[in-house]
Amino acid sequence: MKKEIKNKTLEFFVGDISQQPGYEAVVNAANAELRPGGGVAGAIHQKAGPRLDKECRQHAPIEVGEAVITEAYELPNKKVIHTLGPIYRKNKDQKKQLSNCYKNSLELAEKHKISSVLFPAISTGAFNYPIEKATEIALKTTKKKLDELMEIKKIGFVLFSQEDLEVYKEKAKEIF
Ligand code: ADP
Repeated sequence: MKKEIKNKTLEFFVGDISQQPGYEAVVNAANAELRPGGGVAGAIHQKAGPRLDKECRQHAPIEVGEAVITEAYELPNKKVIHTLGPIYRKNKDQKKQLSNCYKNSLELAEKHKISSVLFPAISTGAFNYPIEKATEIALKTTKKKLDELMEIKKIGFVLFSQEDLEVYKEKAKEIF
């Protein structure tokens, strides 16, 4: 699904984040140590190759909600933005922390003059954040930033299942 809003394109689709040449930067749902691990980080590191792991060591560890940028190496993108999502534990800070992941990633992309950014559903895998709640935070945070973004023309959200995509489509209708 595609949506045009405030001169930006928003895209929502099912796919593997490590195979998306249509985006200048992809966002990694990283762990604090920026190591390969499973899920999104596993796929990104496997495709990018060992030079990504090496560069990541210089930036680690990162804080929850923080974002850092690296080269993309063998990935079909220019850059990888690594951000650490909160583990879902029902505490009150996590909403802000997850929002910060999107906010800081978009600001970093903007600073690096990146024109297109692709997000996975941060924290909704190993970190257990419920997809509906996480989606609302992702889309509301993105909406708030749209006016400030001059360089970024396209923001994508890649989901790993049709079910998750349906949640994004539903929430996007409400929020945008
Ligand atoms: P976190 O630790 O932040 O929860 P995960 O990587 O475990 O991160 O999962 C985040 C989301 O990404 C989950 O919804 C998961 O299904 C999805 N996911 C896992 N692998 C990929 C992939 N290769 N491409 C896109 N999304 C993926």
